[in-house]
Order: sequence, then C-alpha cells, then structure tokens
Amino acid sequence: MFRRKPPRTERTVKEEKKITIFVDRDLCKGVDGCGLCMHVCPGDVYEKSDSLTDRGICPPYPSHPDRCTGCMLCMMYCPDFAIVVETEE
Ligand code: SF4
Ligand code: SF4
Repeated sequence: MFRRKPPRTERTVKEEKKITIFVDRDLCKGVDGCGLCMHVCPGDVYEKSDSLTDRGICPPYPSHPDRCTGCMLCMMYCPDFAIVVETEE
C-alpha cells in the first residue's frame, strides 16, 4: 500500500471513520490548471482554496471531510501525487 506523508500539507480529518486527507500544496499544480480531484470526488469534498501558494496557485481544500467515503479516487487520479488519503478500520 502506498503510504506517503508529504512535508507540507493541509490536513483534514474525518473523525468518525478516521479518514485523513492530505493535500500537498507544493506538489499540486492548482485547481485552475487541473482540478481532477474535484471532478472525480463522488462526495464533492473539495473546494478551491482561498489562499495562493508560494507559486501562485490555488490548491483544492477538503472543506467537507464529513462527505468523504475513503474511496481514494482523488489520490489515484491526481497526476502529481499531491493527495494522500489514509483510512483506519
Ligand atoms: S477519498 Fe473519495 S470521497 Fe474522499 S475526498 Fe477522495 S475522492 Fe472524495
Ligand atoms: S488532481 Fe492533484 S494536481 Fe490536480 S488539482 Fe487536484 S491535487 Fe492538484
């Protein structure tokens, strides 16, 4: 199983199912240039971040972690390996 915690991340935790979503702001190319994670997420978990990164892009922000099912589609589809989803049973 692929396990990686990027060094600089925004981290959101869904407590009841123990799902943790990491988005690496340095690896992401930005919602405006990509946005695949937002398109594939069945729970509409992500929205565009309000804050720009040092590179001037807006990464996705998992603003609705309560809707996350832990399907990991966002992690699998991200072309830049910027997302890690961890689940604990
Ligand atoms: S794991 Fe699935 S439901 Fe959760 S944020 Fe990623 S795509 Fe959406
Ligand atoms: S799929 Fe990856 S690179 Fe594309 S916007 Fe989402 S986190 Fe960024």
